Amino acid sequence: MKKSQALTQIKREMATVCRKIYEKGLTYSTGGNISVRIGEDSFLIKPADYCFGDLKGRDFIVVNSRGEKMIGPKGNRPSSETPMHVTIYRDLKDINAVIHAHSPYTLVFATMGVPIEPATTFAEEELGLVPLAPYRDPGTQDLAEIAAQTLKKVEKNLYPPAKTPAIACLLERHGVLVAGKNLRQTFYALESLETTARTILWMKTIQN
Ligand code: 13P
Ligand code: ZN
Repeated sequence: MKKSQALTQIKREMATVCRKIYEKGLTYSTGGNISVRIGEDSFLIKPADYCFGDLKGRDFIVVNSRGEKMIGPKGNRPSSETPMHVTIYRDLKDINAVIHAHSPYTLVFATMGVPIEPATTFAEEELGLVPLAPYRDPGTQDLAEIAAQTLKKVEKNLYPPAKTPAIACLLERHGVLVAGKNLRQTFYALESLETTARTILWMKTIQN
């Protein structure tokens, strides 16, 4: 397959995952961003201010490791969280896909500053304990560094080990960050985490 065809296919896959995320209510409005590593110094990323539900393959932008736009439609700027995505790729060499979302149930924990415990056996195998990255302003290099550091700790198994090829952390008062070896597994991890958050909230509701 030619390089340009492969790129078109990845962009389509990204748009499909974005639509699923939006339709499943895993993020809302223009919240969230997604990226995929496509080379040593090149990454595909969502444009800023787009709703996941509206994205088409042609909308995605190629950026370099400094987050500079290399290829992409005129008028589309790289996501405001590009620093966070490229910093994660810089620090975690096995990571090839990153999704950031404002998932409503997970947001309850992120906003209260409470890590998400693996309530079910599936959650335990998939992600283990999902820790909290302390608050930093959105779109800043500060947020990028604290998010990458937190994921790095998860990767090093400082938290209970999980079998999944994806890792995650909460961004305090902001949302969730999931990173994985490929886009599909990363999307599944996002979906699982939101389901776990919902399960825990229902458990607490019934217990009280
Ligand atoms: P972008 O639209 O710039 O990707 O930003 C959305 C977001 O979630 C910021 O944290
Ligand atoms: Zn956000």
